[in-house]
Amino acid sequence: MKRIAIIGAGPSGLSQLRSFRSAEEEGADIPEIVCFEKQSTWGGLWNYSWRTGTDNNGEPVHNSMYRYLWSNGPKECLEFGDYSFDEHFKKSIPSFPPREVLKSYILGRADNSDLSHMVKFNHVVRNISISKDTGKFNLRVTDIENNTDLVDIFDIVIIATGHFSVPNVPYFEGIENFMGRVMHSHDFRDAAEFNGKRLLIIGSSYSAEDIALQSMKYGAKEVICSYRSAPMGFRWPSGIEEFPIVERFDSTKSFFCNGSNREIDAVIMCTGYLHHFPFLQKNLRLNTNNLLYPGQLYKGIFWLDNPNLIYLGMQDQYYTLNMFDAQSWYARDVLLDRIQLPSRESMEKDIKNWMQREIHLKNPTQEIEYQTNYCKDLVELTDYKIDYDLISKQFIKWEKDKDEDIVAYRDRSFISPVTGTQAPAHHTSWWDEMDDSYGSFIGKI
Ligand code: FAD
Ligand code: NAP
Repeated sequence: MKRIAIIGAGPSGLSQLRSFRSAEEEGADIPEIVCFEKQSTWGGLWNYSWRTGTDNNGEPVHNSMYRYLWSNGPKECLEFGDYSFDEHFKKSIPSFPPREVLKSYILGRADNSDLSHMVKFNHVVRNISISKDTGKFNLRVTDIENNTDLVDIFDIVIIATGHFSVPNVPYFEGIENFMGRVMHSHDFRDAAEFNGKRLLIIGSSYSAEDIALQSMKYGAKEVICSYRSAPMGFRWPSGIEEFPIVERFDSTKSFFCNGSNREIDAVIMCTGYLHHFPFLQKNLRLNTNNLLYPGQLYKGIFWLDNPNLIYLGMQDQYYTLNMFDAQSWYARDVLLDRIQLPSRESMEKDIKNWMQREIHLKNPTQEIEYQTNYCKDLVELTDYKIDYDLISKQFIKWEKDKDEDIVAYRDRSFISPVTGTQAPAHHTSWWDEMDDSYGSFIGKI
Protein backbone atom coordinates (compact mmCIF):
# COMPACT_ATOMS: atom_id res chain seq x y z
CA MET A 1 0.00 0.00 0.00
CA LYS A 2 1.28 3.45 -0.89
CA ARG A 3 2.20 5.86 1.92
CA ILE A 4 0.99 9.41 1.36
CA ALA A 5 2.19 12.56 3.11
CA ILE A 6 0.04 15.70 2.96
CA ILE A 7 1.80 18.91 3.98
CA GLY A 8 -0.69 21.38 5.49
CA ALA A 9 -4.15 20.96 7.03
CA GLY A 10 -5.69 24.12 5.61
CA PRO A 11 -8.75 23.90 3.37
CA SER A 12 -6.76 22.18 0.55
CA GLY A 13 -5.24 19.53 2.83
CA LEU A 14 -8.64 18.99 4.44
CA SER A 15 -10.25 18.52 1.01
CA GLN A 16 -7.70 15.84 0.25
CA LEU A 17 -8.34 14.07 3.56
CA ARG A 18 -12.11 14.34 3.06
CA SER A 19 -11.84 12.86 -0.46
CA PHE A 20 -10.15 9.72 0.86
CA ARG A 21 -12.59 9.45 3.76
CA SER A 22 -15.50 9.66 1.34
CA ALA A 23 -14.02 6.77 -0.76
CA GLU A 24 -13.51 4.78 2.43
CA GLU A 25 -17.10 5.36 3.50
CA GLU A 26 -18.12 3.74 0.24
CA GLY A 27 -15.99 0.67 0.88
CA ALA A 28 -12.65 1.49 -0.77
CA ASP A 29 -9.34 0.52 0.79
CA ILE A 30 -7.39 3.72 1.25
CA PRO A 31 -3.62 4.19 1.57
CA GLU A 32 -1.89 5.18 4.79
CA ILE A 33 -2.04 8.96 5.00
CA VAL A 34 -0.13 11.28 7.32
CA CYS A 35 -0.91 15.00 7.21
CA PHE A 36 1.72 17.25 8.80
CA GLU A 37 0.45 20.62 10.04
CA LYS A 38 2.75 23.16 11.62
CA GLN A 39 0.01 24.95 13.54
CA SER A 40 -1.66 23.47 16.62
CA THR A 41 -4.97 23.20 14.80
CA TRP A 42 -6.38 22.94 11.29
CA GLY A 43 -8.02 25.54 9.05
CA GLY A 44 -4.92 27.15 7.49
CA LEU A 45 -5.41 30.86 6.84
CA TRP A 46 -8.84 30.70 8.48
CA ASN A 47 -7.06 30.04 11.75
CA TYR A 48 -6.82 33.76 12.62
CA SER A 49 -3.93 34.85 14.82
CA TRP A 50 -3.36 38.20 16.50
CA ARG A 51 0.36 37.55 16.18
CA THR A 52 2.55 38.92 13.42
CA GLY A 53 6.13 37.95 12.57
CA THR A 54 6.90 34.75 14.42
CA ASP A 55 4.68 32.61 16.64
CA ASN A 56 5.30 31.32 20.15
CA ASN A 57 7.57 28.60 18.73
CA GLY A 58 9.60 31.02 16.62
CA GLU A 59 7.95 29.79 13.39
CA PRO A 60 6.74 32.33 10.79
CA VAL A 61 3.07 33.22 11.44
CA HIS A 62 1.02 31.67 8.63
CA ASN A 63 -2.08 33.83 9.07
CA SER A 64 -2.77 36.69 6.63
CA MET A 65 -6.34 37.34 7.70
CA TYR A 66 -7.57 40.29 9.72
CA ARG A 67 -10.08 41.07 12.41
CA TYR A 68 -12.98 42.43 10.35
CA LEU A 69 -12.53 40.20 7.30
CA TRP A 70 -15.76 39.10 5.63
CA SER A 71 -16.05 36.74 2.69
CA ASN A 72 -15.29 38.68 -0.46
CA GLY A 73 -17.20 36.24 -2.67
CA PRO A 74 -20.68 34.79 -2.17
CA LYS A 75 -20.57 31.74 0.10
CA GLU A 76 -22.67 29.95 -2.50
CA CYS A 77 -19.67 30.06 -4.88
CA LEU A 78 -17.38 28.24 -2.48
CA GLU A 79 -19.87 25.75 -1.00
CA PHE A 80 -18.76 22.11 -0.68
CA GLY A 81 -20.67 19.72 -2.95
CA ASP A 82 -21.12 17.19 -0.13
CA TYR A 83 -21.77 19.53 2.81
CA SER A 84 -24.10 22.49 2.44
CA PHE A 85 -24.21 25.65 4.53
CA ASP A 86 -27.82 24.78 5.42
CA GLU A 87 -26.68 21.41 6.79
CA HIS A 88 -23.94 23.01 8.86
CA PHE A 89 -25.89 25.94 10.32
CA LYS A 90 -29.27 24.13 10.36
CA LYS A 91 -30.80 27.17 8.64
CA SER A 92 -30.12 29.52 5.75
CA ILE A 93 -27.66 32.30 6.37
CA PRO A 94 -26.78 35.39 4.27
CA SER A 95 -24.38 35.17 1.34
CA PHE A 96 -21.34 37.07 2.69
CA PRO A 97 -20.39 35.75 6.13
CA PRO A 98 -17.62 37.12 8.30
CA ARG A 99 -14.43 35.12 8.82
CA GLU A 100 -15.45 33.22 11.98
CA VAL A 101 -18.65 31.99 10.38
CA LEU A 102 -16.85 30.69 7.28
CA LYS A 103 -14.25 29.05 9.46
CA SER A 104 -16.98 27.24 11.39
CA TYR A 105 -18.35 25.89 8.07
CA ILE A 106 -14.92 24.77 6.78
CA LEU A 107 -14.05 23.03 10.03
CA GLY A 108 -17.57 21.58 10.36
CA ARG A 109 -17.09 19.21 7.45
CA ALA A 110 -13.69 18.14 8.77
CA ASP A 111 -15.09 17.55 12.29
CA ASN A 112 -17.99 15.51 10.93
CA SER A 113 -15.65 13.35 8.83
CA ASP A 114 -13.42 12.04 11.61
CA LEU A 115 -10.18 13.21 10.00
CA SER A 116 -8.13 14.35 12.97
CA HIS A 117 -6.36 11.04 13.60
CA MET A 118 -4.68 11.47 10.19
CA VAL A 119 -3.17 14.85 11.15
CA LYS A 120 0.00 15.42 13.14
CA PHE A 121 -0.36 18.95 14.52
CA ASN A 122 2.63 21.04 15.64
CA HIS A 123 4.76 19.26 13.01
CA VAL A 124 6.75 21.50 10.68
CA VAL A 125 8.03 19.90 7.49
CA ARG A 126 11.63 21.09 7.12
CA ASN A 127 12.95 19.11 4.20
CA ILE A 128 11.66 16.93 1.38
CA SER A 129 14.06 15.23 -1.00
CA ILE A 130 13.90 12.27 -3.36
CA SER A 131 16.04 9.20 -2.79
CA LYS A 132 18.07 8.51 -5.92
CA ASP A 133 17.98 4.79 -5.15
CA THR A 134 14.30 4.22 -4.43
CA GLY A 135 12.60 7.25 -5.97
CA LYS A 136 10.72 7.68 -2.69
CA PHE A 137 10.44 10.91 -0.73
CA ASN A 138 12.49 11.45 2.41
CA LEU A 139 10.87 13.87 4.84
CA ARG A 140 12.47 15.61 7.80
CA VAL A 141 9.88 16.98 10.17
CA THR A 142 10.16 18.87 13.47
CA ASP A 143 7.79 17.82 16.22
CA ILE A 144 7.53 21.20 17.95
CA GLU A 145 5.99 20.03 21.21
CA ASN A 146 8.67 17.41 21.84
CA ASN A 147 11.44 19.43 20.22
CA THR A 148 12.58 16.46 18.15
CA ASP A 149 13.19 15.88 14.46
CA LEU A 150 11.79 12.79 12.78
CA VAL A 151 12.63 11.30 9.42
CA ASP A 152 10.12 9.31 7.39
CA ILE A 153 9.71 7.89 3.87
CA PHE A 154 6.66 8.30 1.61
CA ASP A 155 5.68 7.21 -1.91
CA ILE A 156 3.52 10.26 -2.58
CA VAL A 157 3.81 13.84 -1.31
CA ILE A 158 0.94 16.33 -1.54
CA ILE A 159 1.88 19.98 -0.98
CA ALA A 160 -1.07 21.89 0.49
CA THR A 161 0.82 24.71 2.19
CA GLY A 162 -1.08 27.56 0.48
CA HIS A 163 0.43 30.53 -1.31
CA PHE A 164 -0.99 33.57 0.47
CA SER A 165 1.26 33.63 3.49
CA VAL A 166 4.77 34.73 2.51
CA PRO A 167 4.58 38.43 1.57
CA ASN A 168 5.95 39.90 -1.62
CA VAL A 169 7.55 43.16 -0.43
CA PRO A 170 8.95 45.37 -3.22
CA TYR A 171 11.38 48.21 -2.56
CA PHE A 172 10.50 51.84 -3.30
CA GLU A 173 13.14 54.58 -3.31
CA GLY A 174 13.39 56.42 0.00
CA ILE A 175 10.95 54.19 1.89
CA GLU A 176 13.60 53.62 4.56
CA ASN A 177 13.36 57.35 5.39
CA PHE A 178 9.57 57.44 5.65
CA MET A 179 8.66 58.18 9.30
CA GLY A 180 5.22 56.54 9.40
CA ARG A 181 4.22 52.90 9.71
CA VAL A 182 5.10 50.61 6.77
CA MET A 183 3.60 47.14 6.61
CA HIS A 184 2.45 44.37 4.27
CA SER A 185 -1.17 43.19 4.19
CA HIS A 186 0.07 39.88 5.66
CA ASP A 187 0.59 41.77 8.96
CA PHE A 188 -2.57 43.89 8.78
CA ARG A 189 -4.88 42.97 11.66
CA ASP A 190 -7.12 45.80 12.82
CA ALA A 191 -8.44 48.61 10.63
CA ALA A 192 -9.24 50.69 13.70
CA GLU A 193 -5.48 51.29 14.08
CA PHE A 194 -5.74 53.70 11.14
CA ASN A 195 -8.62 55.77 12.52
CA GLY A 196 -7.98 59.41 11.58
CA LYS A 197 -4.92 58.49 9.49
CA ARG A 198 -4.00 59.16 5.84
CA LEU A 199 -3.16 55.80 4.28
CA LEU A 200 -1.28 54.85 1.16
CA ILE A 201 -2.14 51.38 -0.13
CA ILE A 202 0.09 49.90 -2.84
CA GLY A 203 -1.54 47.29 -5.12
CA SER A 204 -4.82 46.98 -6.99
CA SER A 205 -6.20 43.54 -6.24
CA TYR A 206 -8.42 42.02 -3.54
CA SER A 207 -6.33 42.97 -0.51
CA ALA A 208 -5.98 46.57 -1.70
CA GLU A 209 -9.70 46.82 -2.40
CA ASP A 210 -10.81 45.30 0.89
CA ILE A 211 -8.29 46.98 3.18
CA ALA A 212 -9.04 50.37 1.58
CA LEU A 213 -12.76 49.88 2.15
CA GLN A 214 -12.58 48.65 5.68
CA SER A 215 -10.02 51.25 6.72
CA MET A 216 -12.54 53.91 5.64
CA LYS A 217 -15.33 52.00 7.37
CA TYR A 218 -13.37 52.05 10.63
CA GLY A 219 -12.49 55.72 10.46
CA ALA A 220 -9.41 56.38 8.26
CA LYS A 221 -9.21 60.03 7.19
CA GLU A 222 -8.29 59.26 3.57
CA VAL A 223 -6.96 56.35 1.52
CA ILE A 224 -4.94 56.47 -1.68
CA CYS A 225 -4.60 53.22 -3.63
CA SER A 226 -1.58 53.21 -5.91
CA TYR A 227 -1.66 50.86 -8.90
CA ARG A 228 1.13 49.44 -11.05
CA SER A 229 -0.84 48.01 -13.98
CA ALA A 230 -4.38 49.37 -13.88
CA PRO A 231 -6.71 51.09 -11.40
CA MET A 232 -9.44 49.01 -9.77
CA GLY A 233 -11.87 51.60 -11.14
CA PHE A 234 -14.70 51.16 -8.61
CA ARG A 235 -17.04 53.97 -7.65
CA TRP A 236 -15.34 54.46 -4.30
CA PRO A 237 -16.93 56.01 -1.24
CA SER A 238 -15.75 59.52 -0.47
CA GLY A 239 -12.19 59.50 0.91
CA ILE A 240 -10.76 56.74 -1.32
CA GLU A 241 -8.86 57.71 -4.48
CA GLU A 242 -6.67 55.84 -6.96
CA PHE A 243 -3.25 57.10 -8.09
CA PRO A 244 -0.73 55.56 -10.50
CA ILE A 245 2.28 53.85 -8.97
CA VAL A 246 4.26 55.54 -6.22
CA GLU A 247 7.88 56.15 -7.27
CA ARG A 248 9.55 57.35 -4.11
CA PHE A 249 9.10 58.51 -0.53
CA ASP A 250 10.57 61.16 1.71
CA SER A 251 10.01 61.31 5.48
CA THR A 252 6.31 62.29 5.23
CA LYS A 253 5.27 62.14 1.59
CA SER A 254 4.73 59.72 -1.27
CA PHE A 255 5.59 60.85 -4.82
CA PHE A 256 3.68 59.31 -7.72
CA CYS A 257 4.72 58.68 -11.32
CA ASN A 258 2.22 61.30 -12.59
CA GLY A 259 4.18 64.04 -10.79
CA SER A 260 1.80 64.45 -7.85
CA ASN A 261 2.60 63.89 -4.19
CA ARG A 262 0.69 63.46 -0.92
CA GLU A 263 1.37 63.67 2.80
CA ILE A 264 0.61 60.29 4.35
CA ASP A 265 0.77 58.67 7.78
CA ALA A 266 1.12 54.98 6.89
CA VAL A 267 1.82 52.62 4.00
CA ILE A 268 0.21 49.20 3.54
CA MET A 269 1.72 47.12 0.77
CA CYS A 270 -1.05 44.97 -0.71
CA THR A 271 1.47 43.59 -3.16
CA GLY A 272 0.57 39.93 -3.03
CA TYR A 273 2.41 36.83 -1.91
CA LEU A 274 5.17 34.46 -2.98
CA HIS A 275 4.82 30.80 -3.87
CA HIS A 276 7.47 29.75 -1.41
CA PHE A 277 8.55 26.18 -0.71
CA PRO A 278 11.91 26.35 1.09
CA PHE A 279 11.38 22.84 2.51
CA LEU A 280 11.40 21.21 -0.94
CA GLN A 281 14.44 20.00 -2.83
CA LYS A 282 15.14 22.80 -5.34
CA ASN A 283 14.16 20.94 -8.51
CA LEU A 284 10.74 20.09 -7.01
CA ARG A 285 9.75 23.68 -6.18
CA LEU A 286 6.84 25.20 -8.04
CA ASN A 287 8.05 28.54 -9.34
CA THR A 288 5.19 30.74 -10.48
CA ASN A 289 3.34 34.02 -10.12
CA ASN A 290 -0.27 34.07 -9.00
CA LEU A 291 -1.86 32.54 -12.12
CA LEU A 292 -5.05 30.66 -12.94
CA TYR A 293 -2.87 27.94 -14.46
CA PRO A 294 0.62 27.70 -12.98
CA GLY A 295 2.97 25.84 -15.34
CA GLN A 296 4.66 22.53 -14.55
CA LEU A 297 1.44 21.03 -13.13
CA TYR A 298 -0.73 18.57 -15.09
CA LYS A 299 -4.41 19.27 -14.33
CA GLY A 300 -3.02 22.09 -12.20
CA ILE A 301 -1.92 19.49 -9.62
CA PHE A 302 0.57 16.83 -10.78
CA TRP A 303 4.25 17.83 -10.96
CA LEU A 304 5.07 17.11 -14.60
CA ASP A 305 8.55 15.71 -13.96
CA ASN A 306 7.36 13.43 -11.17
CA PRO A 307 3.58 12.97 -10.74
CA ASN A 308 4.15 11.36 -7.34
CA LEU A 309 4.46 14.98 -6.22
CA ILE A 310 1.13 16.80 -6.09
CA TYR A 311 0.33 20.45 -5.42
CA LEU A 312 -3.13 21.59 -4.31
CA GLY A 313 -4.60 25.09 -4.36
CA MET A 314 -1.70 26.83 -6.08
CA GLN A 315 -3.95 28.74 -8.51
CA ASP A 316 -5.11 32.34 -8.41
CA GLN A 317 -8.48 31.87 -6.82
CA TYR A 318 -11.95 32.87 -7.91
CA TYR A 319 -12.97 29.35 -6.90
CA THR A 320 -11.68 28.14 -3.56
CA LEU A 321 -13.18 25.34 -1.44
CA ASN A 322 -14.99 23.43 -4.18
CA MET A 323 -11.98 23.82 -6.51
CA PHE A 324 -9.75 22.31 -3.82
CA ASP A 325 -12.32 19.49 -3.62
CA ALA A 326 -12.25 19.02 -7.40
CA GLN A 327 -8.46 18.79 -7.32
CA SER A 328 -8.47 16.44 -4.35
CA TRP A 329 -11.09 14.11 -5.77
CA TYR A 330 -9.15 13.89 -9.05
CA ALA A 331 -5.82 13.30 -7.27
CA ARG A 332 -7.46 10.69 -5.04
CA ASP A 333 -8.83 8.79 -8.03
CA VAL A 334 -5.41 8.76 -9.68
CA LEU A 335 -3.85 7.51 -6.44
CA LEU A 336 -6.55 4.81 -6.14
CA ASP A 337 -5.81 3.77 -9.76
CA ARG A 338 -9.31 4.75 -10.85
CA ILE A 339 -7.90 7.28 -13.33
CA GLN A 340 -4.71 6.69 -15.35
CA LEU A 341 -2.40 9.62 -16.11
CA PRO A 342 -1.52 9.91 -19.82
CA SER A 343 2.02 9.98 -21.23
CA ARG A 344 4.36 12.79 -20.22
CA GLU A 345 4.07 14.20 -23.74
CA SER A 346 0.26 14.42 -23.51
CA MET A 347 0.47 15.98 -20.06
CA GLU A 348 2.90 18.61 -21.30
CA LYS A 349 0.69 19.40 -24.28
CA ASP A 350 -2.34 19.73 -22.03
CA ILE A 351 -0.51 22.13 -19.67
CA LYS A 352 0.64 24.29 -22.61
CA ASN A 353 -2.87 24.39 -24.00
CA TRP A 354 -4.37 25.66 -20.71
CA MET A 355 -1.53 28.19 -20.26
CA GLN A 356 -1.99 29.53 -23.77
CA ARG A 357 -5.70 29.98 -23.15
CA GLU A 358 -5.02 31.91 -19.95
CA ILE A 359 -2.83 34.42 -21.81
CA HIS A 360 -5.77 35.39 -24.03
CA LEU A 361 -8.28 36.04 -21.23
CA LYS A 362 -9.44 39.64 -21.44
CA ASN A 363 -11.65 40.29 -18.41
CA PRO A 364 -12.93 38.80 -15.12
CA THR A 365 -15.92 37.15 -16.84
CA GLN A 366 -13.60 35.21 -19.13
CA GLU A 367 -11.34 34.36 -16.19
CA ILE A 368 -14.29 33.03 -14.20
CA GLU A 369 -15.46 30.93 -17.15
CA TYR A 370 -11.92 29.61 -17.59
CA GLN A 371 -11.65 28.52 -13.96
CA THR A 372 -15.16 27.03 -14.16
CA ASN A 373 -14.05 24.91 -17.10
CA TYR A 374 -10.95 23.90 -15.18
CA CYS A 375 -13.07 22.65 -12.25
CA LYS A 376 -15.55 20.90 -14.55
CA ASP A 377 -12.70 19.22 -16.39
CA LEU A 378 -11.38 17.85 -13.08
CA VAL A 379 -14.63 16.46 -11.71
CA GLU A 380 -15.81 14.92 -14.99
CA LEU A 381 -14.18 11.58 -14.23
CA THR A 382 -14.86 11.60 -10.46
CA ASP A 383 -17.97 11.25 -8.30
CA TYR A 384 -17.71 14.86 -6.97
CA LYS A 385 -20.93 16.70 -7.72
CA ILE A 386 -21.76 20.39 -7.68
CA ASP A 387 -23.40 22.75 -10.17
CA TYR A 388 -20.34 24.70 -11.43
CA ASP A 389 -22.45 26.37 -14.15
CA LEU A 390 -24.69 27.97 -11.53
CA ILE A 391 -21.62 29.01 -9.54
CA SER A 392 -20.07 30.55 -12.65
CA LYS A 393 -23.20 32.61 -13.38
CA GLN A 394 -23.25 33.82 -9.79
CA PHE A 395 -19.56 34.78 -9.86
CA ILE A 396 -20.22 36.84 -13.00
CA LYS A 397 -23.20 38.50 -11.31
CA TRP A 398 -21.01 39.20 -8.25
CA GLU A 399 -18.40 40.96 -10.44
CA LYS A 400 -21.18 43.16 -11.88
CA ASP A 401 -22.51 43.89 -8.39
CA LYS A 402 -19.06 45.11 -7.38
CA ASP A 403 -18.84 47.37 -10.41
CA GLU A 404 -22.26 48.78 -9.62
CA ASP A 405 -21.61 49.44 -5.95
CA ILE A 406 -18.41 48.35 -4.21
CA VAL A 407 -19.79 49.31 -0.81
CA ALA A 408 -23.07 47.38 -1.16
CA TYR A 409 -22.07 44.22 -3.06
CA ARG A 410 -21.92 42.21 0.17
CA ASP A 411 -25.59 42.98 0.82
CA ARG A 412 -26.72 40.87 -2.15
CA SER A 413 -28.10 37.35 -1.96
CA PHE A 414 -27.30 34.22 -4.01
CA ILE A 415 -28.63 30.69 -4.58
CA SER A 416 -26.99 27.57 -3.14
CA PRO A 417 -25.68 25.25 -5.87
CA VAL A 418 -26.20 22.37 -3.42
CA THR A 419 -29.67 22.92 -1.93
CA GLY A 420 -31.17 25.50 -4.31
CA THR A 421 -31.94 27.79 -1.33
CA GLN A 422 -31.89 31.57 -1.88
CA ALA A 423 -29.92 33.16 0.97
CA PRO A 424 -31.76 35.61 3.24
CA ALA A 425 -30.58 39.22 3.46
CA HIS A 426 -28.40 40.21 6.42
CA HIS A 427 -30.26 42.43 8.90
CA THR A 428 -27.73 45.28 8.48
CA SER A 429 -25.83 46.49 5.41
CA TRP A 430 -22.13 45.50 5.42
CA TRP A 431 -21.02 49.14 5.48
CA ASP A 432 -23.05 49.86 8.64
CA GLU A 433 -22.36 46.53 10.37
CA MET A 434 -19.48 47.08 12.80
CA ASP A 435 -20.03 43.82 14.69
CA ASP A 436 -18.64 40.87 12.75
CA SER A 437 -18.94 38.35 15.58
CA TYR A 438 -20.29 34.87 14.99
CA GLY A 439 -23.13 35.47 17.46
CA SER A 440 -24.28 38.65 15.82
CA PHE A 441 -24.24 37.20 12.32
CA ILE A 442 -25.78 33.81 13.04
CA GLY A 443 -27.99 34.81 15.94
CA LYS A 444 -29.93 37.72 14.54
CA ILE A 445 -31.20 36.33 11.21
P1 FAD B 1 -3.77 27.75 3.61
O1 FAD B 1 -5.10 28.15 4.10
O2 FAD B 1 -2.72 28.78 3.51
O3 FAD B 1 -3.25 26.52 4.51
C1 FAD B 1 -1.96 25.98 4.39
C2 FAD B 1 -1.60 25.21 5.65
O4 FAD B 1 -0.27 24.65 5.49
C3 FAD B 1 -1.56 26.07 6.90
O5 FAD B 1 -2.33 25.47 7.91
C4 FAD B 1 -0.06 26.10 7.29
O6 FAD B 1 0.15 26.17 8.68
C5 FAD B 1 0.43 24.76 6.72
N1 FAD B 1 1.86 24.74 6.46
C6 FAD B 1 2.58 25.64 5.72
N2 FAD B 1 3.88 25.29 5.69
C7 FAD B 1 4.00 24.15 6.39
C8 FAD B 1 5.10 23.30 6.71
N3 FAD B 1 6.33 23.55 6.26
N4 FAD B 1 4.87 22.22 7.48
C9 FAD B 1 3.62 21.92 7.94
N5 FAD B 1 2.54 22.70 7.65
C10 FAD B 1 2.73 23.79 6.90
N6 FAD B 1 -10.99 32.39 0.22
C11 FAD B 1 -12.35 32.35 0.21
O7 FAD B 1 -12.93 31.39 -0.29
N7 FAD B 1 -13.09 33.37 0.74
C12 FAD B 1 -12.49 34.43 1.33
O8 FAD B 1 -13.17 35.35 1.80
C13 FAD B 1 -11.06 34.48 1.38
N8 FAD B 1 -10.45 35.50 2.00
C14 FAD B 1 -9.08 35.52 2.03
C15 FAD B 1 -8.46 36.59 2.67
C16 FAD B 1 -7.09 36.69 2.72
C17 FAD B 1 -6.45 37.86 3.39
C18 FAD B 1 -6.31 35.69 2.10
C19 FAD B 1 -4.82 35.78 2.11
C20 FAD B 1 -6.92 34.61 1.45
C21 FAD B 1 -8.31 34.51 1.41
N9 FAD B 1 -8.98 33.46 0.79
C22 FAD B 1 -10.34 33.42 0.78
C23 FAD B 1 -8.23 32.44 -0.01
C24 FAD B 1 -7.56 31.32 0.79
O9 FAD B 1 -6.40 31.09 0.02
C25 FAD B 1 -8.38 30.04 0.84
O10 FAD B 1 -9.65 30.27 1.42
C26 FAD B 1 -7.74 28.91 1.65
O11 FAD B 1 -7.35 29.30 2.95
C27 FAD B 1 -6.55 28.24 0.96
O12 FAD B 1 -6.35 27.00 1.57
P2 FAD B 1 -4.97 26.20 1.50
O13 FAD B 1 -5.16 25.00 2.34
O14 FAD B 1 -4.59 26.02 0.08
O15 FAD B 1 -3.88 27.15 2.14
P1 NAP C 1 -2.95 39.38 -5.48
O1 NAP C 1 -4.35 39.14 -5.92
O2 NAP C 1 -1.92 38.43 -5.93
O3 NAP C 1 -2.58 40.85 -5.95
C1 NAP C 1 -1.31 41.38 -5.80
C2 NAP C 1 -1.32 42.86 -6.16
O4 NAP C 1 -0.03 43.38 -5.88
C3 NAP C 1 -1.62 43.15 -7.61
O5 NAP C 1 -2.48 44.26 -7.72
C4 NAP C 1 -0.23 43.50 -8.17
O6 NAP C 1 -0.26 44.43 -9.23
C5 NAP C 1 0.38 44.19 -6.96
N1 NAP C 1 1.85 44.24 -7.01
C6 NAP C 1 2.72 43.20 -6.95
N2 NAP C 1 3.99 43.65 -7.00
C7 NAP C 1 3.91 45.01 -7.09
C8 NAP C 1 4.86 46.05 -7.17
N3 NAP C 1 6.17 45.78 -7.21
N4 NAP C 1 4.42 47.31 -7.24
C9 NAP C 1 3.12 47.59 -7.21
N5 NAP C 1 2.14 46.66 -7.14
C10 NAP C 1 2.55 45.38 -7.08
O7 NAP C 1 -2.88 39.42 -3.87
P2 NAP C 1 -3.95 39.93 -2.82
O8 NAP C 1 -4.67 41.14 -3.30
O9 NAP C 1 -3.20 40.00 -1.54
O10 NAP C 1 -5.01 38.72 -2.73
C11 NAP C 1 -4.60 37.45 -2.27
C12 NAP C 1 -5.80 36.58 -1.93
O11 NAP C 1 -6.41 37.06 -0.75
C13 NAP C 1 -6.91 36.51 -2.97
O12 NAP C 1 -7.32 35.18 -3.13
C14 NAP C 1 -8.03 37.29 -2.36
O13 NAP C 1 -9.32 36.83 -2.74
C15 NAP C 1 -7.82 37.09 -0.91
N6 NAP C 1 -8.37 38.22 -0.10
C16 NAP C 1 -9.66 38.15 0.33
C17 NAP C 1 -10.19 39.17 1.10
C18 NAP C 1 -11.58 39.14 1.64
O14 NAP C 1 -12.19 40.15 1.71
N7 NAP C 1 -12.14 38.03 2.00
C19 NAP C 1 -9.41 40.29 1.37
C20 NAP C 1 -8.10 40.32 0.93
C21 NAP C 1 -7.57 39.28 0.16
P3 NAP C 1 -0.34 44.03 -10.79
O15 NAP C 1 -1.79 43.89 -11.06
O16 NAP C 1 0.33 45.15 -11.43
O17 NAP C 1 0.42 42.73 -10.94
